[in-house]
Amino acid sequence: MNLDKIVALCKRRGFVYQSSDIYGGLNGVYDFGPLGTLLKQNIRKVWVQSLKKTDKEIVFFEGSILGSYDVWKASGHADHFNDPMVDCLNCKKRYRADEINLEKPCTHCGKKDWTRARQFNMMFKTNLGAAADEASIAYLRPETAQSIFINFKNVISTTRVHIPFGIAQIGKAFRNEITPKQFLFRMREFEQMELEWFCKKENADTYFDYWVNEREKFYDAIGIKKENIRLKDHDKNELAHYSNQTTDIEYHFPFGWKELEGVADRGNFDLTQHSSHSGKELSVYDDETKKSYIPNVVECSVGVDRMFLMVLFDAYTQDTIDGEQRVVLKISPKLAPIKAAFLPLTKKLSDEFLPIYKKIKTQTGFDMQFDVSGSIGKRYRRQDEIGTPVCFTYDFDSQKDGKVTARSRDTTKQERVDIDQLETYLKNIIQ
Ligand code: ATP
Repeated sequence: MNLDKIVALCKRRGFVYQSSDIYGGLNGVYDFGPLGTLLKQNIRKVWVQSLKKTDKEIVFFEGSILGSYDVWKASGHADHFNDPMVDCLNCKKRYRADEINLEKPCTHCGKKDWTRARQFNMMFKTNLGAAADEASIAYLRPETAQSIFINFKNVISTTRVHIPFGIAQIGKAFRNEITPKQFLFRMREFEQMELEWFCKKENADTYFDYWVNEREKFYDAIGIKKENIRLKDHDKNELAHYSNQTTDIEYHFPFGWKELEGVADRGNFDLTQHSSHSGKELSVYDDETKKSYIPNVVECSVGVDRMFLMVLFDAYTQDTIDGEQRVVLKISPKLAPIKAAFLPLTKKLSDEFLPIYKKIKTQTGFDMQFDVSGSIGKRYRRQDEIGTPVCFTYDFDSQKDGKVTARSRDTTKQERVDIDQLETYLKNIIQ
């Protein structure tokens, strides 16, 4: 299994395209095609559902992408969100200094002529309005979390939430990565799903363990192979500037064990910083102790796109059916972009099967496909490759017995199902 196969599948079947493709492409930026968009929608949906289905109080939030310099000064990003970079003076190629051995020559041109390592701030800077002066500077957010922190007071004063509770958000983030790579793994424009869990300091450790455990259970529930997931605690010297403790949920990508999601105890760093920089009171009143305090935060942060890539890797399978090799995405039915394909055995049978397909589609709202072109074997392979859990084939017997053949993606086993029962049959597979 390698990355090239996933990249090729994504391009071939309309999951992902290079952004600005017809103009030569934009490095580290991608567009999502029809199937990719459905997969992303499903990823967001299972994440949201996993939070809604806990017994914990969680509200949802959508912050702006643009933020003022003050926000990022207070959060520490203006000063600390840097990666060290070096350039090869000979071929001008740029590298992240911590990812290469500076004792060795440039892997691109073979010469050893490095600049000194310089700190490079990864935030995208822009100007608001016509005047490009200091006062108009704004930044595209490098993480979604800060918009939650700066709205903490707004949320508690306009809703009925009480500590402990969570604020969750899905949204775009931007990082000017020095070397975007490994396809969707490290992008310059990506999407994050973050939960900020506000609690008392004395409960932060317990909630930290609770959320690590919940997030592990989440990956199990969406069918990710257990052996490909592991936890890695950060050493003290690896911790980000805001973090007291961090555990990464790592996935075994073909290019090694890598962070998929980070769970971090951010202490009360962010709220304290924003309170002192803005001069606004961001503490909450404790009815028991009759004192005000700034709550701690436990954060769960994962990239939609990184999860997308992981889901494809985990599902990608090559096997041999009746002596023929096939590629099959054994993706959880909950995530599958297309839930079922309706295949009339011959074109002649389309007229009878199409109204059945349309009826089930309008009743369920499921994303499904009706496909008449090519041999039935070819059509099955096409659906296997995009992870469709089940295909229904309407044949000449269907006219007589009112049944279709349901063919399972994973086992390729076939069974006859009453057309009247198709909706229930499908719902049982998808739930
Ligand atoms: P890394 O060490 O891989 O750069 P990070 O520790 O900087 O990641 P966080 O700031 O913890 O990442 O971001 C939380 C999550 O957002 C990551 O676990 C990942 O899923 C996602 N993410 C971060 N940077 C990117 C990126 N450049 N492209 C895609 N997803 C990303």
